Amino acid sequence: MSDADTIVAIATAPGRGGVGVVRVSGPAVPVMAGILTGKQLPPRQATLATFFDEHGGPLDQGIALRFSAPASFTGQDVLELHGHGGHAVLGLLVKRCLMLGARLAEPGEFTRRAFLNEKLDLAQAESVADLIEAASEEGARSAARSLVGEFSSRVETLVQELIGLRTHVEACVDFPEEEIDTAELAAIKNKGESLSAALAALQQAASQGAVLREGLTVVLIGRPNVGKSSLLNRLAGEDLAIVTPIPGTTRDQVRATIHLNGVPIHLIDTAGLRETEDEVERLGIERTWQAVSKAGAALLLAEAGESLALPEAALLNRLPPSLPLAWVHNKIDLHGWQAGERQQDGQASFRISALTGEGLEPLRDWLLQTAGWKPQGESVFMARARHLAALEEAARHLTAAGSEISQFELMAEELRLAQRALGRITGEFGADDLLGEIFSRFCIGK
Ligand code: GDP
Repeated sequence: MSDADTIVAIATAPGRGGVGVVRVSGPAVPVMAGILTGKQLPPRQATLATFFDEHGGPLDQGIALRFSAPASFTGQDVLELHGHGGHAVLGLLVKRCLMLGARLAEPGEFTRRAFLNEKLDLAQAESVADLIEAASEEGARSAARSLVGEFSSRVETLVQELIGLRTHVEACVDFPEEEIDTAELAAIKNKGESLSAALAALQQAASQGAVLREGLTVVLIGRPNVGKSSLLNRLAGEDLAIVTPIPGTTRDQVRATIHLNGVPIHLIDTAGLRETEDEVERLGIERTWQAVSKAGAALLLAEAGESLALPEAALLNRLPPSLPLAWVHNKIDLHGWQAGERQQDGQASFRISALTGEGLEPLRDWLLQTAGWKPQGESVFMARARHLAALEEAARHLTAAGSEISQFELMAEELRLAQRALGRITGEFGADDLLGEIFSRFCIGK
């Protein structure tokens, strides 16, 4: 992949739509724009144009937008053709651009160029993908906050403070210990402590962002007809799963994602987990088991007054012992039970009615709590596992620096390592090996 190539891709989602956008970025854009539209396009102005094929025939008519380097998303010359949103017509436009010297863009290549040309830092670039993938309004809002740089600027503030402290400490390295007065030492200690506190606050906010992004995977265990799909629908607040009184109807639908306060809860219905001779089904079941082994919680559903039957007990034994479990006694309306919750031996149990919605609030809270969601006043921004790891590493080095307070050389080294860890979040340090990994997960055209 080279920045010198001109790349093209359809930027809008596949399918039919009122408008479809083809985007081109690279040095061939100025010439290509002229040939395609037969016009000199003034930069940053919407120009109504016919898009021509190689014989001068019309491919489409729409709006052409040209951006001149470096004032564009990628930092290169960019052309956007806003044509009609049909698969064939957009395909023709892309083909025409290929003829004129472009090549097809790799996934995430536009955003990668934006990063390489310093239009976005790495955390912002990642939030582009997170924003596109966000499945809840809260998720979208938090990704947008990261995109406009709220997360990056908090990281950057910490980096600047770290640099200040490092300078201070490194200045002390050259002096014999006895010449450093206690006021100086106290100042260094104070700075270190306030930095640690700021870092801890950032970790907290970022971990909430990670919960919004990753959510919680929950295994749903219970016999057919105990009300698993009804519960799912109730929790989701909309009709997602199919509810019918015929036992076993949820068999084929083993996974669903619902959102609680914007936190994705991925539910795996174990109804499909049974012994089978069918090879295709067996593979599906194996995949479900793999997902179960990575789950963050399990809900055991039974009808009020009934205990779990043997097949479920066997399932239960295969779950990781440390997995948070909750018993859910459903259909209390049929049995005249009161709704309620109880904690016993570290295990939660809930009495609910998926039909009437009684008793669901505490269950919802339990799920959110198990996911690690702590409602807070501060706005959350989207963060990824790698961001959390970097913040944790920085915190570790900062703590180590604090314990080396009179050994300035060691302290300076720990501070340098803390700064490096933070720099990895925004891509300042050690980004090369990460880039392929991050951008390959983007969709094409972004
Ligand atoms: P699943 O097979 O475990 O997914 O069970 P379903 O959600 O399909 O529910 C089976 C039947 O039980 C349906 O007729 C539901 O309407 C009914 N049902 C589910 N929950 C309740 C409840 O809390 N009270 C009552 N009375 N009926 C329920």
